[in-house]
Amino acid sequence: MALTGEEIARNVAYIRSEIRAAALEAGRDPSGIRLVAATKTNDADAVRAAIAAGVDICGENRVQEMLEKNAQGAYTGVPLHFIGHLQRNKVRQVVGLCQLIHSVDSLPLLEEISRTAERKALVQDLLLEINIGNEASKSGFAPEELPGVLRQAAEFPGIRVRGLMAIPPVCSTEEENRPFFLKMRKLFIDNCEKKYDNIAMDCLSMGMSADYPEAVRCGATLVRVGSGIFGPRHYT
Ligand SMILES: *Cc1c(COP(=O)(O)O)cnc(C)c1O
Repeated sequence: MALTGEEIARNVAYIRSEIRAAALEAGRDPSGIRLVAATKTNDADAVRAAIAAGVDICGENRVQEMLEKNAQGAYTGVPLHFIGHLQRNKVRQVVGLCQLIHSVDSLPLLEEISRTAERKALVQDLLLEINIGNEASKSGFAPEELPGVLRQAAEFPGIRVRGLMAIPPVCSTEEENRPFFLKMRKLFIDNCEKKYDNIAMDCLSMGMSADYPEAVRCGATLVRVGSGIFGPRHYT
């Protein structure tokens, strides 16, 4: 059963208060953290309810689903981000439509995004996905690859690297994720001073329904929350 607009609003208000509390606990300004609604599998009405309830951004995982909902005007009022695994042959449909691509996990993908953006005469903002738990099942760059990747990214005129994103290993408690989040923060800080024209690292995207307060305490600037807003997902 899909949640009602009222239930979605209540969830968003609760998540906001948790983000705020976690930020203050860590001595951070709560306004520096943006709530991305991870909208996959939820229909346009649910997405509109989340926007009405005050989420900052919508994040989609699948290109086809995103294009369908976009055609229904689902995202009106907030920026749209792409947070899922992106295939190179779908880049054309994402570049320019999405304000930020969180999930850039290879150099060929980076190159394709740059080429496409140049063709569209725009600059695409993106994050580099880091495989912070070094998991075979997950995509993303290894932490130690990052300096080299940034050096190469500096050669691509169609993109601007705005920061890093990670999905840590599934842990049973949010405290277990802490070492991964702290590792991400260190990687982010160590690399955000790089002086390249098209690299301006100010976004750290980490934290989902089960662990966003911990991610905020560890420095996240973007949290991606799905089931916490919309309830359990129903895949068809
Ligand atoms: C689905 C998804 C989320 C949200 O997951 P929840 O556990 O439902 O909050 C966050 N990030 C990415 C990349 C996702 O695919």
